[in-house]
Amino acid sequence: MISVEEATRRLLKKARPLGTEEVPVRRALGRTLREDIVSPLSIPPFSKSAMDGYAVRSADVAGASEKSPVELRVLEDVPAGRVGRHRVTRGTASRIMTGAPMPPGADAVVMVEYTKRTKGGVLIHKEVGKGTHVARAGEDVRKGQRVLKAGAVIRASEMGMIAATGRSKVTVGIRPKVLVLSTGSEILAPGRPWRPGHIYDSNGYSLTGLAAARGADARFLGIAPDRRGALEKKIGGAGRFDMLILSGGVSVGDYDLVQDMLLGMGLMRIFWKVRMKPGKPVLAGTYDQSFVLGLPGNPVSCMVTFELFARPVLEAMLGRRELGPARGRAHLLEGTKLKPGRRKFLRGRLIETEGRLYVRLFSRQESGVLRSMVESDVLVDVPDNTTVLDTGSIVDIVYLR
Ligand code: AMP
Ligand code: MG
Repeated sequence: MISVEEATRRLLKKARPLGTEEVPVRRALGRTLREDIVSPLSIPPFSKSAMDGYAVRSADVAGASEKSPVELRVLEDVPAGRVGRHRVTRGTASRIMTGAPMPPGADAVVMVEYTKRTKGGVLIHKEVGKGTHVARAGEDVRKGQRVLKAGAVIRASEMGMIAATGRSKVTVGIRPKVLVLSTGSEILAPGRPWRPGHIYDSNGYSLTGLAAARGADARFLGIAPDRRGALEKKIGGAGRFDMLILSGGVSVGDYDLVQDMLLGMGLMRIFWKVRMKPGKPVLAGTYDQSFVLGLPGNPVSCMVTFELFARPVLEAMLGRRELGPARGRAHLLEGTKLKPGRRKFLRGRLIETEGRLYVRLFSRQESGVLRSMVESDVLVDVPDNTTVLDTGSIVDIVYLR
């Protein structure tokens, strides 16, 4: 059996970025940026006031206070969106609003709260240093600066950043088309009345959800019973895909025909079985240029193996810079004993107290207990043959977010 790292390495060796498309920035949330964003202008493009008040020469108001205010002649009003016409010279000021360009000659803004209007002028009650309440041109971004790198995920802040450079469209990675197929004669579609011996299909939902969350165009193919003909028919009629994900039927039970059937259809196997728990019976291969993953049917196993194997491949197809779930370390809140054997990915929840990150393991770690996924935000990555995890010890974690 191969290690998780070896399995991932073999998959990524075959994964290639798909093409790109241009989309409105407004619709780019969650997409993968496929171009560097270089700002053609400084942001802000001009020095502007950060307050409502008066644009002054700081030298003119040196020593000004409540008791001995300085009076300045007011030249004009400069609202946001307008450019002042007058230069602020010695003994003068212009009324200015937040966001309005600083008039030439002025080097600071006195907040309106520290001023009092007089006939034709204004009393300044406070001295201000050079640059006070002025947002300098280019203080956020310099003209020609690269603000985002290709391969980044576009979050709300990236949408705003791209728009701030004046762009309304952006080049992103085409979403890989992912088809999800649930297998098993006991699997029943939610919405149907329950029948003895059956369970509702949860994998079809959690896997399409994960694939969509990781950037794919995910579609559900349906449920196929453990009959070769039924499986072949579903896959044969599926059309083009970048990744096909099946759950169930990949162990070695008499009715587990997924592997046989896929090999019969021409699947080129990349690996089968990985030294891990949950999730040992994972099948990976390629079919033409597309990936096929046969994941174990247990609801936790299929989600964990998706995150470790399907996710980095999808992210590579999207052209992402970082592949696979983020990792970190945390202190174990309560220790536990483990059976020796395969490397384990235990479900846990993060707790932050007193500046320290702790992880609490979920009480049930069986691979069929889907609630452990609902209640968890990380996997605790436990090396092969570990039998004791001490309270307070530092463990490796894999983020599920
Ligand atoms: P298998 O991998 O086919 O041996 O299935 C392992 C376990 O996962 C069995 O208890 C199955 O009933 C269960 N299982 C398989 N597919 C699904 C599914 N789509 N939703 C929920 N449970 C499933
Ligand atoms: Mg089965």
